[in-house]
Parts: sequence; C-alpha cells; structure tokens
Amino acid sequence: MRIATFVHQGQRRVGIVSSDARSVTPLDLPADQAARGALPLIDAAAQGQALPAPAGAAIALGDVQLIAPIPRPLRNIWCVGRNYHEHAKELQGSVFKNNNANPAQWPIVFTKVPECVVGPSDTVQLPGEAVSAQIDYEAELAVVIGTGGKNIAKADAMRHIYGYTIVNDVTARDVQMRHQQWDMGKSFDTFCPMGPWIVTADELDGQHTRVRCWVNGEPRQDGRTEDLIFDIPTLIETVSRGITLYPGDVIATGTPAGVGMGLSPPQFLKAGDVVRIEIDGIGLIENRFA
Ligand code: MG
Repeated sequence: MRIATFVHQGQRRVGIVSSDARSVTPLDLPADQAARGALPLIDAAAQGQALPAPAGAAIALGDVQLIAPIPRPLRNIWCVGRNYHEHAKELQGSVFKNNNANPAQWPIVFTKVPECVVGPSDTVQLPGEAVSAQIDYEAELAVVIGTGGKNIAKADAMRHIYGYTIVNDVTARDVQMRHQQWDMGKSFDTFCPMGPWIVTADELDGQHTRVRCWVNGEPRQDGRTEDLIFDIPTLIETVSRGITLYPGDVIATGTPAGVGMGLSPPQFLKAGDVVRIEIDGIGLIENRFA
C-alpha cells in the first residue's frame, strides 16, 4: 500500500495510491487529521485499528499536488552519517578527515528539524552565499516507525517499521563542519524534500533496494542498501537505546557514494539545478533549487 498526502481543490487529503500509480483514492479523515498527513493512519495501525474508509472516487494523480507524506514530523528526523562503505571512503579527506575509512563501532546519529520538510516536487531554497556556498544533496531511504518502543532489539526491529519513503538530506557542508554538531547545516528551511508517498513495509524490503540520484539528468549516486555499514535493524536498535520511538518517527538511513563534496573538484548545487532521487519499489522525488 502506498499512502500519499496531497492537496486537491484546495484541501489537504490523505489517500491510497493505485497499484498503477495513476490515481489516488482519498480516505475519510476530518480536516484536522488530514492536516497531519499519514500520521493518523500510522497511529491507528499501531493501535491495531483499521484504515479509515474511502471517501469518494479515485482522483487522477495528475490532478493533485503531492506533498510530503508526513508534512510535519512529530519531532526531529533521525539521520545517520557515513553509512555506506563507498561514501565513507569518498569523504575521508573532508568531513571525516580525523578518521580513517574503517567504520566506527557506533553509527553517527544527528537530526534535522521537522520544519525543514517539503514535498516531493517543491523548490528547495538556497540560503544565499553569505550563509552557505556549499549546498549538497544526499539521496536516502527513510524508515517510518509504526509501533513505537524503547530498547528495541535488532531481532524485533523490522516489526516496528510502518513503511519507507525517500528523503533528500540536503546539507550545507561548510555549516555542517563549522559547528561540530551537524544539525544546523542539515536543517535549513526546505532542506528535507520527502515523498512521493510511504510504501508500507509489507510491500518493500528496505534492506534490498537501490538508491539513485541525478543532478540535471547526470547520474551521481547509485547504491544498494545491502551496502549499509549499519543495517536498518541496527539503526532502530541504536536510536531506541534509552529513547522511546513513537509511531511516525522517521529515520533517514544515510547516503551512498557520489555526493557533490566527494567529487574532484567538489560540485555544489546552484540556482536552477534539479535533483532527482529514485528508490526501487518506492518511486521518485525531484526538486529544483532556487
Ligand atoms: Mg545524510
């Protein structure tokens, strides 16, 4: 099942995307719940409740504006740094210059503020050169938590996943490195394009899928989640150590090799660039930078 949040005739709705991805059937949710996107559905599923009933006929996808499936996450988005082997190698001389290429014992975990989430085709706002001249893309598979929990064991972790979506972990590299902690350089307004929908975990094996990214049509990233240094169960176990995870929490699992900073010479994004990210079994997001 693919769950989309969208605007149709001026109203925010949540619905189920058809298997041919040509239409979406809205669900019967009051406006204050639809405003939360997929979150009320995730809450209901965590409590063992059924989906809301359909509300009206299917609408052609071309007639709606898709927005992020979770337009405003409950709290910060969990993110993982340096989590693909090849990506760790490409950043040895920059972000990770104090480390060797050997993966550490524990993953790097940081967060992005919820307010930076935008939709799958929204414009990403460059902050201006006075703030940052090193804006970069990061194509990532994001896990959406279904049933919450604390101290979730690796062996149980996959049962806590509601589904998957795509995020672009847009990053201001100079700001990321300036402050030691990464949250500022990762959290500029509009710096988390998300979508195009959530694919539920029964329909996608997030541990075996392909993550690709293009800039202006030029291939930049092409990785598979089998190459994760810390796999999805390990990430859920790690993030839930002593911290309760809630239904709807989002964990971005890290980016494959091929970010702009890793190129020689580095190539950062500029106004007019279009970044397209595709993950097999989910779909694609495409965002213009301005
Ligand atoms: Mg990232």
